[in-house]
Amino acid sequence: MSERIHLVVIGGNAAGMAAAMRARRVCSDCKITVIEHTGRISIANCIIPAYLADDVEDINELQLLSPQTAISEHRIDVFTHHKAQNIQPSKRALSVENLETSQVLEITYDRLILSTGASPILLDVPNNNTEGVFKLRNLHDALEFRNFLERRKPESITVIGTGSIAQTCAAALHKRGMEITMIGIEKTLMPDLHPLLSERIIRTLEMNNINVYTDDIITNLKASLDASVQAVVTDKRTINCDCILFTVGVKPNVDLARSASINLGKTGAIKVDRRLTTSRSGIYACGDCAETHHIITNKPIYYPSATTAARQGRAAGENAVGGNSINDTGTLTSSIWRCFDLIVGRAGLSNRQAADAGFYYKTTLVQALSKPTQFGGDYIDIIIVSDSESGRLLGVQIAGMDGVHARLNAFVGAITAKMTLHDIEALDFPYSPEISNLRDPMNIAGRIGQKNQDR
Ligand SMILES: Cc1cc2nc3c(=O)[nH]c(=O)nc-3n(C[C@H](O)[C@H](O)[C@H](O)COP(=O)(O)OP(=O)(O)OC[C@H]3O[C@@H](n4cnc5c(N)ncnc54)[C@H](O)[C@@H]3O)c2cc1C
Repeated sequence: MSERIHLVVIGGNAAGMAAAMRARRVCSDCKITVIEHTGRISIANCIIPAYLADDVEDINELQLLSPQTAISEHRIDVFTHHKAQNIQPSKRALSVENLETSQVLEITYDRLILSTGASPILLDVPNNNTEGVFKLRNLHDALEFRNFLERRKPESITVIGTGSIAQTCAAALHKRGMEITMIGIEKTLMPDLHPLLSERIIRTLEMNNINVYTDDIITNLKASLDASVQAVVTDKRTINCDCILFTVGVKPNVDLARSASINLGKTGAIKVDRRLTTSRSGIYACGDCAETHHIITNKPIYYPSATTAARQGRAAGENAVGGNSINDTGTLTSSIWRCFDLIVGRAGLSNRQAADAGFYYKTTLVQALSKPTQFGGDYIDIIIVSDSESGRLLGVQIAGMDGVHARLNAFVGAITAKMTLHDIEALDFPYSPEISNLRDPMNIAGRIGQKNQDR
């Protein structure tokens, strides 16, 4: 590999730093430069809810790698507080503004990786930018929000959004003794979540005194004369509150890519091939700014997640310095989260997604004990989507207070390996009463699924 290769990475978080570190491992002589807008790199965004709950006290614990360590131990030149402004692919150059001095530098590259991530969506309603309205994406947002919580001691908050991050944040804020209301626009808590699981999560939230309203359309945020937020107004009600948290999803940061005439996909994120190359020679993209593909349908999708970011980042970093890593893994859109004592997870296709992909599907609902109740076992709800002819597993949704993670992981393996209901009934899971059940919930799900199949 040539020592002349200069790899420039724009964005120094999960995808960008995975790319830079992998490139360094594969190519010890390359020059690697990371341009990062904020003052930090490698932030564990997923730990932000724990920081809000005060379970993690020091914000520095969210930083997995410091710029100084990246420079001294990995020979990666990190430029924090620098913003890439535009790319000129024909010159293999980009302009970068030093945000502290306003000086604009021109940097040339041999290979460029775009890992510019995503930005939180703010609903386009009046007063969405007023004092007391927060979003969460990075360390700055987390710090600003926690400072507000500690300084102003708000008694009530409305969380706009009812997805996994909203639920996790609501549970975190509950620890601060606040009155919490959650509002979602869909009939269920999340798109494509089975109503049974949605109801189980809502019950858990309500048991913890969180008010949950679904199927509400937000029309306005009311602000006081001193421009602090006062209430959320929906088509059905007015909810008075001291502050608001927006968690309604993210959109990919693609302005730089668009300005360099890099093709975007139908999802609006940067279109990449299996080697993470974009439509422009020498330019790669990875993480929340880029598309990935669905393992079952093989179609491009936008699935912003830390796992996809890290996996794509490694492949892009390796390929950018001359490797040939094929990111064939794609995604099953697997996710898992905690809502108070309840663990919820899902992977693969929902009913609607299976139908959209052209499958004739069956849905099987199963309730089975994680382990004997004498040892703290609890009922796990499992919803399986399978191909109605072959019995091939297409998707799973699962919730319970014990043993959910192990089963979800096993289902992810089974769906990826294209196993059938018959196959999972026969899987030889281990048993010990303190840990598991004699008939594992997944074996039971396979048996009930087959009966359902025969109907
Ligand atoms: C509260 C919260 C909880 C989460 N929990 C989970 C979880 O449990 N599991 C999970 O899988 N995912 C979770 N995620 C999502 C996960 O954090 C993201 O998918 C992941 O951070 C994406 O990494 P990324 O590097 O692609 O993008 P980002 O993290 O958005 O990083 C992009 C970086 O690029 C920089 N940048 C952008 N434009 C420029 C520019 N022009 N010049 C210089 N720098 C630029 C930005 O400053 C940023 O640092 C969570 C996210 C949040 C906010």
